[in-house]
Amino acid sequence: MAEQLLQVENLKKWFPTKDASVLSKDKSYVKAIDVISFFINKGETLGLVGESGCGKSTTGRAVLRLIEATEGRVLFENQDIGNLSSRSLKKKRKDMQIVFQDPYASLNPRLKVKQIIEEPMTIHLKLSKKEREERVKQIMQDVGLNVHYMDRYPHEFSGGQRQRIGIARALAVHPKLIIMDEPVSALDVSVQAQVLNLIQDLQVKYDLTYLFITHNLSVVKHISNRIAVMYLGKIVEVADRDAFFENPKHPYSQALISAIPEPNPKLKRERVILKGDIPSPIDPPAGCRFHTRCPVAIESCMTVEPELVVTEEGHQVACHLANR
Ligand code: SF4
Repeated sequence: MAEQLLQVENLKKWFPTKDASVLSKDKSYVKAIDVISFFINKGETLGLVGESGCGKSTTGRAVLRLIEATEGRVLFENQDIGNLSSRSLKKKRKDMQIVFQDPYASLNPRLKVKQIIEEPMTIHLKLSKKEREERVKQIMQDVGLNVHYMDRYPHEFSGGQRQRIGIARALAVHPKLIIMDEPVSALDVSVQAQVLNLIQDLQVKYDLTYLFITHNLSVVKHISNRIAVMYLGKIVEVADRDAFFENPKHPYSQALISAIPEPNPKLKRERVILKGDIPSPIDPPAGCRFHTRCPVAIESCMTVEPELVVTEEGHQVACHLANR
């Protein structure tokens, strides 16, 4: 049986809204994550997918404790990271890194590339200056950056190269888990495939586990072993990649998959068009949160919230019709 590296249990993150008065009893909250559970096996990539605003990036940040969860537990190597002191958490961060969507905003423009990659090493690793420099060179080569550019600044690089710098920085301390938060979404389509292939190659070379957050189903299909779909702060389906794409069970997953462009014109796919926009996470619909847009909703969907249940081995779905 595969060894689990990360377990997320009943994680919840509600943000108080700006207009909520401190004294008011009726505080309102943005229910960004509203009780979700999942795990990631060692060495695998779990793709976390959903429309923007569904809570997937907040999940990534809450897992790393870059923001504090409202409730729930995150176990990394069976250790509850919510109980760690700030000193222990700092040590643990060596094992858990993140790559952000916008490679320019996430790199300090005043630092040279070598300083950016070296910085986490100076915090987490006891290496001499020479050892750090050797390691910077090695990582730059591994991510496909010319080591002669180590004295350049981020603005001197293209978007794809900047994302390689962001990946190099995450790799600098030899982490076990990297949260990839839309790492190719800001890149030109022509560069996306190169960076995705690099991310896959590095997974093998550095023995990495990924939580790969994206809104792009084609990307998630390319890179993931398993897929979890989020809708309005909830996980609505989890499955192995092939099972998910061949037999999606949740109507939301079916709609997302139907919208993937089909390169072969002979293979026409029936597109499911969803009605309306994603509702506000401040006041999500009662019952199944998807019922306002679901093409097959039944009466009970408006009042009874479906649980995420196992429909077959490795496949979980939150829909009243999942087993019909
Ligand atoms: Fe649609 Fe009802 Fe299933 Fe929700 S529970 S996805 S509304 S059928």
